[in-house]
Amino acid sequence: TTTTERHLYDVVVIGAGGAGLRAAIEARLAGKRTAIISKSLFGKAHTVMAEGGAAAAMGNVNSRDNWMVHFRDTMRGGKFLNNFRMAELHAKEAPERIWELETYGALFDRTKDGKISQRNFGGHEYPRLAHVGDRTGLELIRTLQQKIVSLQQEDFAETGSYESRIRVFQETTITELLLDGDRVAGAFGYYRESGDFLLFEAPAVVLATGGVGRSYKVTSNSWEYTGDGHALALRAGATLINMEFLQFHPTGMVWPPSVKGILVTESVRGDGGVLRNSEGKRFMFDYVPDVFRKQYAETEEEADRWYTDPDNNRRPPELLPRDEVARAINSEVKAGRGSPAGGVFLDVSTRMPAETIIRRLPSMHHQFKELADVDITKEPMEVGPTCHYVMGGVEVDPDTGAAAGSVRGLFAAGEVSGGMHGSNRLGGNSLSDLLVFGKRAGEHAAAYVDSLPRRPKPDRVDVAAAAEVALAPLAREQGENPYTLQQDLQAVMGDLVGIIRREGELGEALKRLHELRLRVADVAAVGGRRYNPGWHLALDLRNMLIVSECTAKAALEREESRGGHTREDFPKMSPQWRRINLVCSLDEAGEVRLDRKPVPAMPPELLDLFDRSELAKYLTDEELGEE
Ligand code: FAD
Repeated sequence: TTTTERHLYDVVVIGAGGAGLRAAIEARLAGKRTAIISKSLFGKAHTVMAEGGAAAAMGNVNSRDNWMVHFRDTMRGGKFLNNFRMAELHAKEAPERIWELETYGALFDRTKDGKISQRNFGGHEYPRLAHVGDRTGLELIRTLQQKIVSLQQEDFAETGSYESRIRVFQETTITELLLDGDRVAGAFGYYRESGDFLLFEAPAVVLATGGVGRSYKVTSNSWEYTGDGHALALRAGATLINMEFLQFHPTGMVWPPSVKGILVTESVRGDGGVLRNSEGKRFMFDYVPDVFRKQYAETEEEADRWYTDPDNNRRPPELLPRDEVARAINSEVKAGRGSPAGGVFLDVSTRMPAETIIRRLPSMHHQFKELADVDITKEPMEVGPTCHYVMGGVEVDPDTGAAAGSVRGLFAAGEVSGGMHGSNRLGGNSLSDLLVFGKRAGEHAAAYVDSLPRRPKPDRVDVAAAAEVALAPLAREQGENPYTLQQDLQAVMGDLVGIIRREGELGEALKRLHELRLRVADVAAVGGRRYNPGWHLALDLRNMLIVSECTAKAALEREESRGGHTREDFPKMSPQWRRINLVCSLDEAGEVRLDRKPVPAMPPELLDLFDRSELAKYLTDEELGEE
C-alpha cells in the first residue's frame, strides 16, 4: 500500500547530530511544535564520533586567547575564502555555547584550577579545544539529548504528553521537501524498518543532515552520509557553495584494508605525536608553506620545546592545517618513502609514557588494539589521508541560517551548510559551529513561522510524485544493482576528484558521472519495503550523484589550489580566485548549473585584525588598495 502517515509540526529538523539537536532545542524553547528526524538510531550521528573537542576562545589555558585570535585562525585555515560574518559570529559565540552545555549537564575535562581544559589542535594559535578525553562528541550528544528529555518532561507536566512539543522520529529518512509556491510546506520520507511513508506538514524545515563522505571509498564517514540535505536543498531551489572543497583528513587508518579510512584523531598530534616516513625522518619540516613559515618551528628541538613552553617557541609543523599535512603525506608516499601499507608512521610510543597515552587517547589505544592489533604505546601507527568533511554546503544567510536561492522557510546548520570554513576547516571548529549556528537556525526558523500570514500547504500531487519516485526502484523487475553503482561512483570520485586534481581527469569524471546518472535512473532494488537497505541505497544514490556532480564541476572550474582543493595544473593560490564563490544550483531541466558570485568583502574593522603583510598574501592589490 502507499498509505502515508501525516504529521503536523511548526518546525521540522532533519538530522539529529549536534546542529539538529541544538536547533530543535531552540525552536522548542520558542514554543514551536518541533519534530527531529534521523536516518539512523537516535544518538548515532557523526557528532557522536567527534573525538578531539570543540574550539572556543575561552582563554582558560592561555589567557591571551580571545575571539579575535580565533577569528584570525579560522580565516587563515580557510585561506580567506570563509564567509567572514560566519567566522566572526562563530568566534564570538562559541564560548557561550560551550558554557551553556555545562548548564545542560555536560562536564568537560578540567584544568588544575577547575576551569574547562583546552587542548592544542592544528591551526589554532592557543590551546582552544574544550574536550572530554578523546570522546568529546559523545558528551555533546548525550547532553543535548538530556536537555531534550528534560524539555519533554516539562511538556508532560503541562500537557500530559511527553511528545506534545518535541518528538523524535528515528530510523526515518526524508527523501523530498514539499513546497507551496516558493515556500517550504513540509517533508516526505519513509520509516526504514517498515518502509511506510510519512508526510510532515510544516512551514519551516531545518536541514542538519551532515556530510557527503560516502561518495568516496576511503572515508571516515559512516553509511548515512550521502549528501541528502545538500540534494534536498538543491531540488527545493536553494543553492550550494564551495562544493569543490572537501577535507581529506591526513590521518586515517590504512591497515587492515577492512578498516581503511577510519579516523585517527588529530589529538594524537596535538598531544605530541609525530609523523615519520620510512627513513625515520620527521618530514613535515620540509612542507611548511611560505604563508605559515613565521608561526612554525624550524627544528625538532624548537618544536619539542613548544609543548611545554608555547610562549617562547613556535609550534611543530605536524600541527599545520589539515590540507597541508594531507598533501605532505601524499607526496611522501608518492616519492616512495611510505609505510608498508601505503601510509606514513604516526608515533606516540617514543614520545609519551604508556600511561599518559592510555589516559589521554583511550579510544585510539582501543581502536588500534582491536582493529589492527597494534599497541600504540609500543609501536607507531600507519596512517594516510581519508575523506572526512565537506566545507561546501547550503548557501545561507550568516545570521539566520536561512537558505539562499528561490525557496523560503528552509534553514541549514552544521556540516550541511557552507561558507563558515572557507576552503578548509580547522579541527574542532565543527563542534562549535554546530552549536552556534544550530541555535541560530532554530531561533530564526521559529521566528519565520511566527511571521507567516498563513500556513503553506503541500500539494497532493507533489506527495503522490514523491511516493512514486521512492517506489520506482522496487517496481523495476530488472535494473542496475545499487551496490555496484555506489562502488562505481566511489571509484570515479576517489580516482578522479580526489586529493590531487587535474583538468583532464575532472573532465573524465564529469563524463562518467553523467553515465552514472543515466544508470541510477534505472536502479532496481530486490525485495520488499520492510527493512531493505538495497532500496534505501537506491534512493540515496540520486542524492550522491547530484552532489558529486556539483563537486566535480566546481573542481574543474576553479583554476587554483586552495585548502581542500588542489589542482596539479594550477598549484598556486590566486588572489583573483579568492574573490569568487562557485554557486551550484539546478536549472529547470534538473541539470547542475554553476555560477560565479563574489565572496563578501570583509569590513575594515575585521581587516584591521591582520597585518597588511599577511593580507597581501591573500588579497588582490585592488582589494588592498581599497582598504
Ligand atoms: P551529523 O552529526 O553528521 O548528523 C547528521 C544527522 O542527519 C544524522 O542524525 C543523520 O542520521 C541525519 N540524516 C542525514 N540524512 C538524512 C535524511 N535524508 N533523513 C533524515 N535524517 C538524515 N569535528 C570537530 O569539531 N571536532 C572533532 O573532534 C571531530 N572529530 C570527528 C571524528 C569523526 C570520526 C568524524 C566522522 C567527524 C569528526 N568531526 C569533528 C566532524 C564533526 O563530527 C561533524 O562535522 C559534525 O558532527 C557534523 O554535525 P552535524 O550536526 O552537522 O551532522
